[in-house]
Amino acid sequence: MAKNPLHCSFCGRSRDEVKILIAGQEGHICENCVEHAREIIDQELAVKDERTTTSFKLTVKKPIEIKKFLDEYAIGQDEAKKVLAVAVYNHYKRLQQKPSDLNTGNEVEIEKSNIVMVGETGTGKTLLAKSIARMLNVPFAIVDATVFTEAGYVGEDVESILTRLLQVCNYDVAAAERGIVYIDEIDKIARKGDNPSITRDVSGEGVQQGMLKLLEGTDVLVPPQGGRKHPEQKLIKINTQNILFICGGAFDGIDKIIARRVQTNTIGFNVDKELQDNMKKNLLSYVNATDLKSFGLIPELLGRLPVVTHLEPLDATTLRAILTEPKNALIKQYTKLFELEGIELIIEDDVLDFMVEKAMEYKLGARGLRSICEGILTDAMYELPSSKETQFTLDLEYAKRNFDKSKLSLLKVA
Ligand code: ADP
Repeated sequence: MAKNPLHCSFCGRSRDEVKILIAGQEGHICENCVEHAREIIDQELAVKDERTTTSFKLTVKKPIEIKKFLDEYAIGQDEAKKVLAVAVYNHYKRLQQKPSDLNTGNEVEIEKSNIVMVGETGTGKTLLAKSIARMLNVPFAIVDATVFTEAGYVGEDVESILTRLLQVCNYDVAAAERGIVYIDEIDKIARKGDNPSITRDVSGEGVQQGMLKLLEGTDVLVPPQGGRKHPEQKLIKINTQNILFICGGAFDGIDKIIARRVQTNTIGFNVDKELQDNMKKNLLSYVNATDLKSFGLIPELLGRLPVVTHLEPLDATTLRAILTEPKNALIKQYTKLFELEGIELIIEDDVLDFMVEKAMEYKLGARGLRSICEGILTDAMYELPSSKETQFTLDLEYAKRNFDKSKLSLLKVA
């Protein structure tokens, strides 16, 4: 008997050996192979699902809860925390929108809420961004805008912003695609002067242009090792649609721009320092995209950074609270360090006031608190582990003596 010429193109079984043979354009498939293919698909999808759910299990929190979480790590800055909480919550909702919903064309697409934070250095911008990433449990990378230059010039390509993110999550592209990037010193790539430059502005506008495509949400080819892209390097494709970008900068002098805009002409030479500082603080709370544009950020970039918020300068009360209140407050950290040595550390209240006073006097901000603590406690941390002491009381006299001995006292600004 002649063999039936029809056969499964996958397993080669003939028509008589199978129950069903489905015809395709140029071949056939039998029911066994369909079954087998189904199993392969299920397995593959399960692996993918596992990857997406285990490496970044997003934690859902309502804005009020997000703010409460931030309160545990950062003192004050209520305005910035609120704005961040809402932006992050909306971003989260955006992540939950299924692409299939959008493809039908009926669904409203929620746009990305990338954020700009304006505030003096050391006021907690990085801390807030970092805390958000910790809460969401997503990869978080900090990059400094000043290292980037326009393609073709000495410096790093803007794409390497995403390299940092990839490195943080061990090159897990799916995780990186939902991460948060904090771009510090965004003000340093501002265009010089208010007018668009005629000549090329290597470090400023070109970089801003480069950043546009990262921020808007497209596929970006990223050099795995960072730095400059070169032809023989294999690039990794990352879609930035769900990456949240938080930018921060001190924007020195922006208060004057805001003042001009809100037509407050009272900033003069005769106004006393305290009042001026107060005004400066209040002025910052009016900051908006127009001011950032006047400062030198290009409108296209600002269009992709729709949320603008500010951080307030830290006053003595805030600095005092920063020393003791946050979850990993400095004093808590030193107490723990001593405790691990079997020593109880007692710090008298006036020592804390002294530290704050010095931080204010030397204009060291919150970042300076750490150096001050370090300067004061180094001797104790050096000697005590070899002694039999079980308690150490840090009093004002000891603090003053050690502070004066430390190099910090040389930092005094005239
Ligand atoms: P910025 O990014 O604004 O320059 P950082 O977030 O890096 O400042 O803050 C510098 C240091 O000061 C960090 O160690 C941080 O813990 C501390 N700090 C700054 N602001 C606050 C704050 N509001 N609450 C608690 N700690 C703060």
